[in-house]
Parts: sequence; structure tokens; C-alpha cells
Amino acid sequence: MIIEKEFEDFVFKIALENALTYGGKANPKALLGKIIPKFPEMKNDMKHNMQIIENIVEQVNNMTAEEQKIKLLDINPKFFEEKANKKEDNKKKQGLSELPEHKGEFIGRFSPAPSGFLHIGHLFNLVYNYEYKKMYGGKFIIRFEDTNPEKIAKENYEKILEDINWITKNGIDEVYYQSDRLDIYYKYLRQLIEMNYAYVCTCKNEVYKAFNDSSQSCPHRNLSPQEQLEKYEKFFNNGYKDGEAVIRFKGDLENKNPALRDFGIARQNSNEHARAKKKYTLWPMYNFAVSVDDSLMEINYIVRGKDAEIGAIRQDMVKDALGLKKCKYYHFGRMKFEDLELGKTPIKEKIEAGVYTGWDDPRVPTLISFKKRGYKAQAFIDMLTSKGISKRDSRITEEEYYKSLNYFNKQILEEEASRFFFVHNPKIVKITNINKYPEKEILMPIHPDFKERGNRKYSVIDKYLIDSIDFDNVEKDDLIRLMHFANFKVVDKNKDSLTLEYISKEFSRDLKLKRNIHFCPTIPEEQKPAVIIMQNNQKLIGVTGPLMKPKVGDAIQFERFGFVRFDHTDKTGKRVFYFTHR
Ligand SMILES: [Zn+2]
Repeated sequence: MIIEKEFEDFVFKIALENALTYGGKANPKALLGKIIPKFPEMKNDMKHNMQIIENIVEQVNNMTAEEQKIKLLDINPKFFEEKANKKEDNKKKQGLSELPEHKGEFIGRFSPAPSGFLHIGHLFNLVYNYEYKKMYGGKFIIRFEDTNPEKIAKENYEKILEDINWITKNGIDEVYYQSDRLDIYYKYLRQLIEMNYAYVCTCKNEVYKAFNDSSQSCPHRNLSPQEQLEKYEKFFNNGYKDGEAVIRFKGDLENKNPALRDFGIARQNSNEHARAKKKYTLWPMYNFAVSVDDSLMEINYIVRGKDAEIGAIRQDMVKDALGLKKCKYYHFGRMKFEDLELGKTPIKEKIEAGVYTGWDDPRVPTLISFKKRGYKAQAFIDMLTSKGISKRDSRITEEEYYKSLNYFNKQILEEEASRFFFVHNPKIVKITNINKYPEKEILMPIHPDFKERGNRKYSVIDKYLIDSIDFDNVEKDDLIRLMHFANFKVVDKNKDSLTLEYISKEFSRDLKLKRNIHFCPTIPEEQKPAVIIMQNNQKLIGVTGPLMKPKVGDAIQFERFGFVRFDHTDKTGKRVFYFTHR
């Protein structure tokens, strides 16, 4: 037997969904695929039941789209979320396109400079190269480009590796440090000089630049390789002061682009290096070291931003001169952040000036900061790969970036996060007739979709704490609900407390409740002091209900507040959380 009411409600719901999916008109036959599995017994009287379906569909089709929407929002608000998700999922499936002209394994690399921590600007190179390695198989190499002695701090190496391991789930295959490879570079430098591809220039910078800009040789360029080698040896016998001597690669002096004429490939710099200490004073420069390394490490594809295009041409010039194997490049369009301060130098300066508390300050767009605030590595990967990779440059505001990232992060947190309450600036509510409440304890699911995760339990007593914002927004005679608990009437309000009268337990739309309020127990054993650090570093002090022993790093959703990450318990016993997003 079909229970008519249940049957009709279900048909009405899916007729609305069908109509809203297909331009406002539902099709009765199209609904059967969903109705029959749920009500198989309808087949016993197909004619009669089909008539019911057709009547309901007619009713739905007579509604405007707006009316249909309002009705469905009431019956099944999840439909709209699911629809949005589906759209995003389709977008997501586009993912990264195949690399042009690539077959076989992808031997790729990510090569950070240890001059600061990684920030979201580094993620493009990191994520794309790592994802292509996953797509094709091969190797993902990390290479520290640390040949600029004065810009390096030792702790950065370790922190950068932690960040990369976080994003790639420990997906690093090999790690190299350029500062370990000086003897290799020296060998190739000597070779370039011997083959007359490089020269030791001791011009003052401006003088050299004037020659190069006007396509002329400086006085050192045309000395014989023998003379160049003698000058080269002086680097190893304290023959130069810092800034005095540069080894330059002989480019094409006639080239219209000054960047493709001669360029520096090594220089004297006696500053102490964080790893190599005082061992070396001749340091290779970027394009040269990269050329040698990419070739020796057998990198076969480099995916990076368009700003590296000129560098790629220089690198191929060096590789050609040395007879080294070249690789393919894909230079993607750059995403320009319109109002977000990236760049390690400005961040570092603000840390040193005490504006930020450190590289993990919640206001700083470093990976370590996002991680601390509860962002998931997978959210960044989903965001970057869902957009795909393209040669087009784009611009984005901080707000747009967060909107997109938060969307992907929320997909993960919604499922993972346990639900609890956080009451900020607590105010007291007193209940006059709590003895009428039928239960001894209040049970609230830790996650509404995963009942097996258990419940939070509050004792039923006559006093609770609510948030001051809720307190400010209710007046005497209002009907309110304490979430998952019961409905009340506000019978009195003074400066610091509300007096409530218990009405009923179950949620009811007919009561026209003014607010559905979260709350915390007043019993000391059932509450914990807590502080939430917001993205602007502001601290919100309050209390939480009984937490199921959160572990460091746990994601929690404080209902009606947002997602947070549990960081630590401070010396005074307060639990410290970082705000992630709503
Ligand atoms: Zn010169």
C-alpha cells in the first residue's frame, strides 16, 4: 500500500527539481525513473498513480520559476547546493590539459630560492609540475637555487621542504642544493671560457651596460681565451673584490633585445653562505646554473610562468654552447594579484619591523600561514587544476582568490569537521521552568551526516551562556530556540541576562522563531575557555562546549560561526583556534 501523503510529497519535490532543472517545466515520464525505485508498489495501480503524478506536475508547471524555487528551498534546500556542486565538479573534471608535444615520463622540478618561506605565488609552479609528474609518471625534483649568499636564511630550507611535502603529500623524489654543486659549475665555466663563449669582465657596471646597450664589446670581451683563463684563475686566489668581476656569456651583440646580448653567468661574492659558509667566493648566476642543472638532472619539461620566457632563451644559448641537452618549456599566463602583497622581501621586512608576528602570521599569504589557519593542501590543488593551465594572463583580487579557495576548502572541511559551539562574549540565559523539559541531557550530533561520529552532550540545567550578538538581538516576548535543544519564550531581559520560559522541544516552523541560537553550558566541567585568532590577527575570547579532546590540527566547525583549526592549548588552559572561513 502506498501512503498517499508520503507519495505525493515525494512526487511534488522531484517535480519541482525536474522543473527547475529543465527551464520551469517538469515532465511526468521523466520522474518515473526516480519514483519507481522508491515506491515500487506504485506499479500495482499504474493508471491511478500516473494520474496523481500528472496532476502534481500540472500544478508545478503552473507555478512561476520563482515560486518553484521558493517552494523547493523550503522542502529541499540541499538541491541548490548539489546543483552548484555539480557545476563545479564538471569544471573540476576539465583539470590540467595534456602538455603539448609530450610523451613518456615527466621529469620535472620545482626550484625555490631559500630567501624566505613559500607563498601562494609559488604554488603555480609547484602544483603544476607536481601534477604533471603524477599525470605522466616520472620524477619530481626539488632544487634549492641558493647561489645568492647574502639572501639566504638556513631555517628556510627546512620550512620550504615541509611546505612542499605538505602540498605534494610527501611526493618529492630527489632534493638538490646548488650550493653543493659549485665544482660542477666551475668545470662548465672553464669550458665556456676555453671555447671562447665567456669572458671575465671587470668593467664598472654602468660602463659595461653602456657598451652592451649600444651593441659594442667592452674591452675585456675580445681578449684571448688564454688571457681569460688567467683572469678566471684570479677568482680562486683572492684576486678580486666583491662586485669587481663578473663572468659574462657571449650572446648576440647585434640582437635587438639587450637581454639577449651578453649576460652575467658568475660573479665574485665573498659573503658567508648559510650552508657553504666561507668556502666559495665565485658564485654562478641564475641562467647559467639552471642550464647546467636542468640538463644534468635530465629535466625534460619545465612548466612555469611567462615571465621566464627570456630566461629560457638565455638558458638554451648556454646549453647550445656547452652541447648540453635541452628540454621543453610550457610558459603559462601569470595570475596577477591586484591587491595582495606577495614577494618575500616585503613580507620579510614587515616581519623584521614587527608588523607581522612571523612567516606564519595569519595576515601573511605564506603556505605555512594558510596551513595554520586550517586550509588543506588539496584545496589549493583543486583550485589550481580546476582552472586548468593557459597562456593567458589573468588578474585576481584578494577577495576573489579567497572566494575560490574557500569554496574548494569547504568541500573538504564540510565532511571532515566536527560540529561544536563557540560562544563569544558570553551572556547568561536563565530558564524558569526547566523541570518541564522531558530529558536529562541534550544530545547534539558531532556531524549531522555521520551519526556514527557520536554526540556532544550537555546536562539539562537552568542556566546557559549565549553569544552577546544573539543577546543584543532578542527582546522580551520573542520566541527563540536554543539549537538542538528546545523552544523558549523570552520573559525578561536585563543588562546581562535573559530569562526564558520553556515551551517545547522539537523545532517547529509554526512558532515563527526569531532566532535559533547556539549556546554553552555554565557547568565548569562542560565548558572550556577558548580564543579564536581571526585572519586579521584579532583575538576573540569566549567559551566552547565539551570538545571531544581535539588534536592539534583538527578541523572544527563552530556552528553559526565558521570553520576553525585547533592549534594548541595555551599556558592558562585556553584552547587556541585559528579561524579558517565561514
Ligand atoms: Zn668589461
